Amino acid sequence: MADTHEVTNQAPPLVDYDVFSADAALVEGVQRYDAGWAVDDLTALGRRAGTAEAQEWGRLANDYPPKLHTLDRTGHRVDEVEFHPSWHSLTTVAIGAGLHASPWVDPRPGAHVARAAGFSVWSQVEGGHGCPVSMTHAAVPALRADQTLYDEWVPRLTSYSYDFGLRRPQDKAGCLAGMGMTEKQGGSDVRTNTTRAVAQADGTYLLTGHKWFTSAPMCDMFLVLAQAADGLTCFVVPRVLPDGTRNTFRIQRLKDKLGNRSNASSEPEFDNTVAWRLGDEGRGVRTIIEMVMMTRLDCVIGSASLMRACVSQAAHHARHRQAFGGYLVDKPLMRNVLADLAVESEAATALMVRLAAATDRSDDTDEAAFRRLALAVGKYWVSKRGPNVAAEALECLGGNGYVEDFPMARLYREAPLNSIWEGSGNVNALDVLRALAREPQAWEAFRNEVALAGGADARLDRAAARLEQELGDTSEIETRARRLVEQMALVLQGSLLVRHAPAAVADAFCASRLGGDWGHAFGTLPAAVDTEAIVERATPKVA
Ligand SMILES: Cc1cc2nc3c(=O)[nH]c(=O)nc-3n(C[C@H](O)[C@H](O)[C@H](O)COP(=O)(O)OP(=O)(O)OC[C@H]3O[C@@H](n4cnc5c(N)ncnc54)[C@H](O)[C@@H]3O)c2cc1C
Repeated sequence: MADTHEVTNQAPPLVDYDVFSADAALVEGVQRYDAGWAVDDLTALGRRAGTAEAQEWGRLANDYPPKLHTLDRTGHRVDEVEFHPSWHSLTTVAIGAGLHASPWVDPRPGAHVARAAGFSVWSQVEGGHGCPVSMTHAAVPALRADQTLYDEWVPRLTSYSYDFGLRRPQDKAGCLAGMGMTEKQGGSDVRTNTTRAVAQADGTYLLTGHKWFTSAPMCDMFLVLAQAADGLTCFVVPRVLPDGTRNTFRIQRLKDKLGNRSNASSEPEFDNTVAWRLGDEGRGVRTIIEMVMMTRLDCVIGSASLMRACVSQAAHHARHRQAFGGYLVDKPLMRNVLADLAVESEAATALMVRLAAATDRSDDTDEAAFRRLALAVGKYWVSKRGPNVAAEALECLGGNGYVEDFPMARLYREAPLNSIWEGSGNVNALDVLRALAREPQAWEAFRNEVALAGGADARLDRAAARLEQELGDTSEIETRARRLVEQMALVLQGSLLVRHAPAAVADAFCASRLGGDWGHAFGTLPAAVDTEAIVERATPKVA
């Protein structure tokens, strides 16, 4: 067919740049919290993440989602999941970079911050494969409940080799871990679990029951909750037994999900499935919470990373696209939208790296107390902001934002997930109330962190005082939980930005989020804000 027109004014794809170095807030956070030693590796990972090849892996892994094979061709159960090669390429890079293990392998100061930065950078390529990477990282602290299981599994889980496939764990170059808590009748309230665990003479247990959500079912082992004689208990369930035979792990179905499509999320059934007890009977929640604390941090990292990816796409587009005689980025109203999104993203990044730093420093009782409360606050708020940012950033690309050929549609579909799993919004907000009621030192540590910026911005000081007042009133506290947690998150983010971000970013945040000079949609920053400086800082520099 003859050409009818010349294609002009389409933004080039955002490729061939260093995803890490382009993110000033992340680079500064890494330096601030003792992880400067990781900059070379993060830069290399950032360059890899910015390649067209890696971006294409992300697209393909989602366009060709995993396929379940319950039976082989002769009718024997196999319960295997087949992935597109791009999934394996993504996971190979993630595991090779230690995103599943580096703080355990090399626990030096800043190790969690470095890993958080790497996870953030690489998740900008694709979110789904981060699920088993995150769960493998998170399983290690929970395994500390049993020295024998720890010694057996941790060397496999912390290997930097990705070795896909169901084989004897002891023969594999590396293993991955998942978790099975949610059942049909309850996910938040896992006390309602009905899966039964019967103790055997040899010390193992046999599990019978089901799980309604168990992601990444091709992992080598799972931490699973089940009811034993003395109550809800945590178990290690390998997919292949030490003698090489398959453990019973019948995958009934893979979920047909809104987003996160590259990642398989399954409904497994257990039928006399062999399991090893992890921790005491009746202490299942106490045991697995060590894993949940880590995956909650990854929800914060994942959502901060997603928001950063959204801002990068939107700012890049606006820099290249013209309308009404000029570049979109030069239009005052578009700049307001972009700056507002960039402020949200930077606030999320600032909180995310601070939480990773608290994880690094959790031998210190104040840092551990701060982390207990701030992690629940951060999980609630940062993961809640993802979908709003994704929706607005998508609109910055106009119609292209709504089309699957561009990355925004995938980011938008991925965005709500982190607020659902590992404690949905309300559950996290209620967890904040629990920490406030039971652990006064956690509130002390939180307040001390906020106070580090005391006197620097009157709007922050007033918001902190309002928060104290609100927290002093315990009437209808459950009904008010979201409002309280939101205020806590904003005050904490404000304190971090006032101390560490450029003046334009901190001023925009305090004016809008704390001072109330703001509308209900993004793009409603007050006119006095220096949107040009904020957008310039947030825009990825592509060679
Ligand atoms: C893509 C994906 C992957 C997942 N992977 C896994 C996995 O690997 N392993 C696993 O175990 N689970 C997994 N889950 C399940 C997830 O953790 C649960 O869906 C989640 O914990 C919520 O449980 P539920 O679906 O049973 O909802 P429910 O517990 O029924 O909650 C429904 C709503 O009620 C709210 N709610 C609950 N209690 C209260 C209360 N007291 N007051 C006010 N509101 C309340 C919740 O916040 C939520 O909004 C996954 C989910 C998704 C979407």
